[in-house]
Amino acid sequence: MKLRFDPKDLEELTRNVKQIQNDVLEEILKANANTEYLGRFLHGSIDKELFKKNVPVVSYDDVKPYLDRVANGEPSDIISGEAITTFIRSTGTSGGKQKIYPANNKYIEDLAFIFALRSFIVSKHIDYDVEQGKKLAFHFTIPHYNTPSGLPVVPALTCLLMSDYFKMRPTNFHTSPDEVTLCQIYKENMYCHLLCGLARRDEVVSIICSFACALVGAIIFFEKNWRELCGNIRSGNVSEWITDLACRDSVSIILGGPNPELADLIEHECSHNSWEGIITRIWPKAKFIQTVLTGSMAQYVPILEFYSNNLPLISPSYMSSEALFGVNTNPLCKPQDVSYTFLPNLSYFEFLSVDEGRNEEIFDLVDVKLGCFYEPLVTTYSGLHRYKMGDVLQVTGFYNSAPQFKFVRRKNMVISVQLEATTEEDILKAATQATLVLESSNLMLMGFTCWSDLSTLPGHYVMYWELKSKYINGLVELDNKVLVECCCVVEESLNILYRMYRCKSRSIGALEIKVVQQGTFGSLMDFFISRGASINQYKTPLCINSSKALEVLENKVFARFFSDKYPSCDS
Ligand code: AMP
Repeated sequence: MKLRFDPKDLEELTRNVKQIQNDVLEEILKANANTEYLGRFLHGSIDKELFKKNVPVVSYDDVKPYLDRVANGEPSDIISGEAITTFIRSTGTSGGKQKIYPANNKYIEDLAFIFALRSFIVSKHIDYDVEQGKKLAFHFTIPHYNTPSGLPVVPALTCLLMSDYFKMRPTNFHTSPDEVTLCQIYKENMYCHLLCGLARRDEVVSIICSFACALVGAIIFFEKNWRELCGNIRSGNVSEWITDLACRDSVSIILGGPNPELADLIEHECSHNSWEGIITRIWPKAKFIQTVLTGSMAQYVPILEFYSNNLPLISPSYMSSEALFGVNTNPLCKPQDVSYTFLPNLSYFEFLSVDEGRNEEIFDLVDVKLGCFYEPLVTTYSGLHRYKMGDVLQVTGFYNSAPQFKFVRRKNMVISVQLEATTEEDILKAATQATLVLESSNLMLMGFTCWSDLSTLPGHYVMYWELKSKYINGLVELDNKVLVECCCVVEESLNILYRMYRCKSRSIGALEIKVVQQGTFGSLMDFFISRGASINQYKTPLCINSSKALEVLENKVFARFFSDKYPSCDS
């Protein structure tokens, strides 16, 4: 399928930002002025100034009733002039609750355009033959479901991978055949990506993954499974446990029969005491790693540097389920210096100033000021109008007249293993349910906190619990059955996305409760206070992400329990 914009149009797009943004808003207003939603504020007018004056800045809860109505079968035009064909499922980083956003072919086309543009930009900065080399791309397809009206609800990348833009592309530059990329069983998909990447090691010029956490997950998986992978290469046979037959058959063709020499070579590299530089040792022709390393992903930079012997780490783009924003036009800069150039053809962008103590003001894309902080508002081609993104960005420069933004932070903090996000509120709710199970014993929950342990594959949630007997000097006697039940109840109480990852794609492992010695939460408080927290304001964090704080907890663990069944996947 042909794209409306050629990736080579970057110069033109970034030179005419004002005009293009103007045209985009006009197009959207023409298409949507008579929707029920915009009609409430504009009464059919397509006047841009009236749009800015009358249409409110909104968050998810404001538009949810409209989206639910479309999801339940009402026509799209209550919110979008153009038919909504898909709902994009977000990670819910802002609220933890599952959110779905309307999309049509423009969104998928823009996604394909951004992917093409990213490759084009990288090829201008790194000397490699785009047509010759292959990408080891850890792309995963996630199972989807339909709304009651039959519209698919899919994550953005899955949406692209299932579209004709992916399926009908003229050449496959990936080491994996599409049968692997489209396999929906996470572990099988991961194993086969690695197997193909190893079998074609001489061709691999880049390693690609959407977000750095998943790439680190892939390396850990490799570390645990290299013997079996080498065994497959040696014999030419794919392991029996790969049940997806299309995947198996396509990988067998890539293996192309026994290859003991290659197996020996890989075994030799993997047998080193240290895995430092393993990526460049296994894939010596790799020129770069491409994965998002900004925002919450920045924590993975040192790990990837260790494994890759400091190959260039490229953080390619800034995108979301709601809308797509921009690309990194300076791919070889350090991960901490990455900014994204906003592309004016994608959506109509406005910016809410984020400056404590000052009144909020709204600016157009061309009016943002260098150094200032903003929250983006998007008006899309598929029914979002002046929608608050919940991200905080800072203007760092301009590419022609297109502003460049650094990702600063998410407005709300959450924990997650996959693309789900669990808020403090979710965790509290789940723990409260679990304490009802504890009532049957003589134990009380004195304190708890939680984190996502990504060192296991799949990653899983860990809760640290401090338990106390209800009786003075009573012993904390742990009943395995009760605590395992607590794990299950916590999981059952978590959001639908968590449960889907857990029970459908099985890409989140069993939830673990680690029981810590009494006094542990006191020590944790001492720890935070020693680092400058105020004793007056100290609140036990419900999610922990500091490795030092975790150490405090880990040193006091004396028992561990895991959930022993999958939670239900019904919403
Ligand atoms: P989702 O809609 O689930 O894809 O999540 C989108 C959110 O992921 C954005 O609103 C950001 O908070 C975050 N995100 C996406 N791309 C980046 C990036 N390049 N750097 C940092 N955070 C990002």
